[in-house]
Amino acid sequence: MIPQVVWFKRDLRLHDHAPLTAAAARGAVLPLYVFEPQLWQQADASFRHWAFIRESLQELDSSLRGLGGELIVRRGSIISVLAQLHRDLGRFDLHSHEETGNGWSYARDREVTRWCREQGIEWIESPTNGVVRRLRERDGWSAARNVVMTATPLPAPSMILFAKVASDPLPDVDAAPFYRPDGHVQRGGRRDGLRALKSFLASRSLGYMRSISKPGISARHCSRLSAHLAYGTLSAREVDQAAALRMQELDASNDPSSTYWSRQIAAFRARLAWRCHFVQKLEQQPQIEFRCMHPAFESMRDTGWRDDFFEAWRQGHTGFPLIDACMRSLQANGWITFRMRALLVSFASYQLWLDWRRTGPVLARLFTDYEPGIHYSQLQMQSGVTGINAVRLYNPVKQSREHDPEGRFIRRYVPELATVPDEFIHEPWQLASLPSGYPARIVDHEQAAREARARMRPYWHGDSFREQAKAVFQKLGSRNRRTEQRKPRKAASEPPEAPQLDLEF
Ligand SMILES: Cc1cc2nc3c(=O)[nH]c(=O)nc-3n(C[C@H](O)[C@H](O)[C@H](O)COP(=O)(O)OP(=O)(O)OC[C@H]3O[C@@H](n4cnc5c(N)ncnc54)[C@H](O)[C@@H]3O)c2cc1C
Repeated sequence: MIPQVVWFKRDLRLHDHAPLTAAAARGAVLPLYVFEPQLWQQADASFRHWAFIRESLQELDSSLRGLGGELIVRRGSIISVLAQLHRDLGRFDLHSHEETGNGWSYARDREVTRWCREQGIEWIESPTNGVVRRLRERDGWSAARNVVMTATPLPAPSMILFAKVASDPLPDVDAAPFYRPDGHVQRGGRRDGLRALKSFLASRSLGYMRSISKPGISARHCSRLSAHLAYGTLSAREVDQAAALRMQELDASNDPSSTYWSRQIAAFRARLAWRCHFVQKLEQQPQIEFRCMHPAFESMRDTGWRDDFFEAWRQGHTGFPLIDACMRSLQANGWITFRMRALLVSFASYQLWLDWRRTGPVLARLFTDYEPGIHYSQLQMQSGVTGINAVRLYNPVKQSREHDPEGRFIRRYVPELATVPDEFIHEPWQLASLPSGYPARIVDHEQAAREARARMRPYWHGDSFREQAKAVFQKLGSRNRRTEQRKPRKAASEPPEAPQLDLEF
């Protein structure tokens, strides 16, 4: 019987795991995780990711032990690990999920394809969530996703025959030589993911849309499932189906709050669909990690880089209270809500004129939930380089007044401002003298915004710009109508986008 190697990547679970199910049906299974030192040396890798993955692997191992097996861990390049297994076991079949990862993992998977072909090894890859590989027509993507997402999730195999091979120890949490934030790391593992899903659907989601943009309370009312989805301790399909079930329950209820509540969950499901939509973009165009979606913007930020601005932004010392509080909270917790991520990037890209390719890895390392497909698409959108999205140039003071009106979040993460009176908390530079230890603002944000607009305007003109924007839209743009975002009664399957060719400031 040919051994069946299941290579766990960003899918650290036994449930709804097509490669594992397929492997178990074929023969003796070897569940493999490879700690690849080169992966961890990439600019976007961090201790936080490894800590979350490591806990998830420990739980995966204990689930496999419950079935009479264990997780086989190896350290080294995947090719060297596979070659060693080939020597030890002879021919085997290789199973995994398709990975839409960063440039390094894309190149690594091409090497694996080549190696498998040379060795006569069959590598069977299963689709990941609603992402469609080798998609020919973007128009048909939504329907293809819906087929996957509505199919019944696969149960975890109840019996597996295991191939016996020795495992290396799991590398220690401190062992890897990469950047280590001092802050908190979200707990990994499926158990915690299921717990978060349950509490979100049962209670926390009632305040979802009301809180989603508030930097303080969003941490409670958002699902907090992003890291679990990024490393696959839960599949997007099982989460979406649990949410659909909860909507049905609410829709059937006579409770006065149930209609409102059901809408919250519809909005959440819409975001799950956006997740697939954004990952699909990277799947179709891996270059969006490195190059602007619209070529006109490729060198727009080549001049004007300021090391001092970059450092101030990175450290949360810009002199803008909400920006600094967001950055410091991210350093402390590894998570912040969508609107504040957008604000951090917009401020860096416009007011500080920093290139998203250099700010992006800083955030990737800080986010426990780093998901390349969402990350690079969002960075580009928030930096105004897609050519198909409205330009979102946020005013950091207005955002601060709207989303943290009493400055509670600011005071929590910027203790230098703890005693500043409410009327100055959003603009401490209006005080006669700044509180000790807090920097002066590094730019005049209104003047910097005017300059950014003026710098961008020339790029948005001409027939060839429009033609190229249409091509970007044709390949990567959402086909959803705008109205679906305004009325999320049903789960919108994609975020609204249009070939938006005018500047919207
Ligand atoms: C510049 C920038 C970078 C980002 N980088 C990442 C990233 O690396 N990883 C990541 O998971 N999310 C990223 N996001 C999207 C979003 O901020 C997070 O998904 C969300 O805050 C995670 O918290 P949650 O799980 O509680 O989200 P919820 O609001 O509960 O949403 C549920 C799930 O839907 C998906 N989702 C939510 N919002 C979006 C969105 N706008 N686009 C695509 N999918 C979405 C996520 O998988 C999320 O877990 C980024 C946003 C911006 C503006």
